[in-house]
Amino acid sequence: MSKTTVAGELDAWRALPAAQQPEWDDPEEVRAVAAQLAQAPPLVFAGECDQLKDDLAAVVRGEAFVLQGGDCAETFTGSTADAVRNKLKTLLQMAVVLTYAGSVPVVKIGRMAGQFAKPRSNSMEERDGLTLPAYRGDAVNGLDFTPESRRNDPRRLLQAYHCSAVTLNLCRAFTKGGYADLRQVHAWNQDFVAGSPAGQRYERLAGEIDRALAFMKACGADPEEFHGVEFYSSHEALLLEYERALTRIDSRSGLPYDVSAHLVWIGERTRALDGAHVEFASRIRNPIGVKLGPTTSADDALALIDRLNPEGEPGRLTFITRMGAGRIREALPPLVEKVAQSGAPVAWICDPMHGNTFEAPSGHKTRRFDDVLDEVAGFFEVHRALGTHPGGIHIEFTGDDVTECVGGGHEIVEGDLHQRYETACDPRLNRGQSLDLAFMVAEMYRH
Ligand code: PEP
Ligand code: MN
Repeated sequence: MSKTTVAGELDAWRALPAAQQPEWDDPEEVRAVAAQLAQAPPLVFAGECDQLKDDLAAVVRGEAFVLQGGDCAETFTGSTADAVRNKLKTLLQMAVVLTYAGSVPVVKIGRMAGQFAKPRSNSMEERDGLTLPAYRGDAVNGLDFTPESRRNDPRRLLQAYHCSAVTLNLCRAFTKGGYADLRQVHAWNQDFVAGSPAGQRYERLAGEIDRALAFMKACGADPEEFHGVEFYSSHEALLLEYERALTRIDSRSGLPYDVSAHLVWIGERTRALDGAHVEFASRIRNPIGVKLGPTTSADDALALIDRLNPEGEPGRLTFITRMGAGRIREALPPLVEKVAQSGAPVAWICDPMHGNTFEAPSGHKTRRFDDVLDEVAGFFEVHRALGTHPGGIHIEFTGDDVTECVGGGHEIVEGDLHQRYETACDPRLNRGQSLDLAFMVAEMYRH
């Protein structure tokens, strides 16, 4: 295929309706920024994307489980070494709980190093009589509620790229440089044990892992897998100018990859079959996720498979269902059943966050831990009943002790939400709630 044909295909989305794109004041500036991004080094390599695709193929076969998570919206100022380490630490702890207590290999994917753009239900926001454009993520505008901050600024796309690079660098260093070594299983918990039921429960499990490691070592086994982990990055491929500018032709295969992250997903609001996002995703070779909400029909799911994985490549397509605890038991079975009948290889993972958001009397957007858990339970029930594989969870969490979701081991109540409500967008599970969830999911997995 000639270079111009590939470029033409990669730009075919431009002729289609693209939902949720910011209106930029100065199109010339957007073009200049995109040109700069197009010259920038890749954040990930095509070979790494293929490796994730292989790992996800194991999920499709029922041999592995995905743990995908991070902030709803990363922020530039929040991308500190401490914050990144705390998120990774929590993810590693959850993964080890799932691997040990659930006896299943865990594919670890961060909603990290690129999750800087948000779709919004309302394009404007009103506060105390003042109406301004909604916050669309740090890649577009600022969270502060002032006209200056809410102006869409294309130069933020460059900052999003640099911030992603810094975050990914930290993630690579932490996961390959000894910090993710299984012998650190206690160290991840050090600042967490006292006074925390989840931390204490984890400590007991870490003790068991210690004994198992000592036993294996005594037997002469010390596999490489114990000394580091594979960690992948992901975000919603929302801003198509950004994703297109970071798409490169892989020199080995001649195929296009979006090198902004290992996996990118299409959101519930942008998954229109004839829309720009599906068109763009159909052209890149990364593993792709698609969010499916409660109004998705089985025919929608089959049509998405046709568009995004016509060749039936295992690991290429993951459906991330986000039905809501009250609807999953009715809404999910018809989709899973029809897709399974079609024989198409998809990984199914459960986002138990986005169907369970509500507003507390204090005005805080929140979620109940019990609803999150109930949606995951429903997800397992549906897959078990149909003989399909419950392939993973997708969550919004942080490694810090925030008070954004109610319930869980520490019993945060609605009146506590104001104490540490720090999210730039949706409410996240805190570290204790995340660990609690991991223990409960491990139990569901085993039974
Ligand atoms: C999100 O993941 O933050 C999000 C907006 O999800 P959805 O597209 O499922 O609503
Ligand atoms: Mn969200």
